Amino acid sequence: MTAEEEARRLDETDPLPTLRGEFLVPPAPGGEYEEAAYFAGNSLGLQPRAVAGRLREELDDWARLAVEGHTRARRPWVDYHELLREPAARLVGALPHEVVAMNSLTVNLHLMMASFYRPAGDRTRIVIEDSAFPSDSYAVASQAVHHGLDPAATVVRLEPRPGEDELRTEDVVAFLEREGGTVALVLLGGVNYLTGQLMDMPAITKAGRAAGAVVGWDLAHAAGNVPLRLHDWDVDFAAWCTYKYLNSGPGAVAGCFVHERHVRDASVPKLAGWWGTDPAVRFRMDPAIAPPASADAWQLSNPPIMALAPVLASLEIFDRAGMDALRAKSERLTGYLAARLAETGARIITPADPAARGAQLSLRVADAGGLVRRLAEARGVVADAREPDVVRLAPAPLYCTFHDCHRAAEALRDLV
Ligand SMILES: *Cc1c(COP(=O)(O)O)cnc(C)c1O
Repeated sequence: MTAEEEARRLDETDPLPTLRGEFLVPPAPGGEYEEAAYFAGNSLGLQPRAVAGRLREELDDWARLAVEGHTRARRPWVDYHELLREPAARLVGALPHEVVAMNSLTVNLHLMMASFYRPAGDRTRIVIEDSAFPSDSYAVASQAVHHGLDPAATVVRLEPRPGEDELRTEDVVAFLEREGGTVALVLLGGVNYLTGQLMDMPAITKAGRAAGAVVGWDLAHAAGNVPLRLHDWDVDFAAWCTYKYLNSGPGAVAGCFVHERHVRDASVPKLAGWWGTDPAVRFRMDPAIAPPASADAWQLSNPPIMALAPVLASLEIFDRAGMDALRAKSERLTGYLAARLAETGARIITPADPAARGAQLSLRVADAGGLVRRLAEARGVVADAREPDVVRLAPAPLYCTFHDCHRAAEALRDLV
């Protein structure tokens, strides 16, 4: 059997048949195949076929009903965000009243920090990872400034040991045990956007909370990629975008988690808006604020229905596939790609342990931009370059196939 036949056989016999048919796969940018082998779903996921119809329905209801659509649309807009609650809770392992779909990721991080980053006395520092996504770095630095603190002295950037690419859990825990008394907030990526490392969220959350800090997680690269148990892990808060593994479209509405112990605590300070109040009194324009005991209390504005419709359509696909089955397939696909890439001599900086990574493999290469261009030209493989020297390939298990992985490996063998 050739390697290509073997890849096709793996696709045909996999316990979770591909759901590629539910997505619009772009044409191959080069090479002999019709469709792209799309490995950039960690940056922007593919469009579910169901999305256009869902948007059409909302446009029709707007045309047909105008303001009446708030209560009479087929999915009434006034509590449209309720439709996303249960599927989002299942996705991140939360109780339904611990999650809300709102805003975008960085906005949600700021709303969470407005409530949960409360520097006082010696406890002022914010811990992030040195390879944090730029937006997170800007967000935490500006929070320090907002509190009149010096960002350089306030933000701690944890680095891997010299010569290593992974941030070891034991090193994060040791730091928190040693210096936790000065830490107000730990805010790490659940899956690192650059290396693809899956952090040990339960262990780090436990260590951070034991040190008296608040622990929040940026789940941009974790939501829809790996199973999460935010409630059981006792995470204080989390936020994630929905346009990466969650396939909800560019700039789609993000998600937010607040642990039950905080949603029940009316004394937690919040920035307020009319959508964060009890729906029963929302329209009274009463200056007395009555926030509900749920993550909804952090909503400010009435939600963008056109932007929520794709999120709902996408979450339905995750419910159908099941996150645990998807994770199992993801491990098979990523394991296969890792094994094939190892044959090419490519240097993978993502952890080799399947338990310490999601659906992304990052390669350290000489010229990331050039390699990504040549991958597209050679075999229609869409990857992503993080300049100067990292190429990321994410076999998203909903629509990537073993055959796509075969194409990527063949192209890399010829190019690396
Ligand atoms: C993608 C990503 C973002 C993007 O932030 P937006 O507010 O959605 O533009 C932020 N943080 C991380 C870790 C990301 O991976």
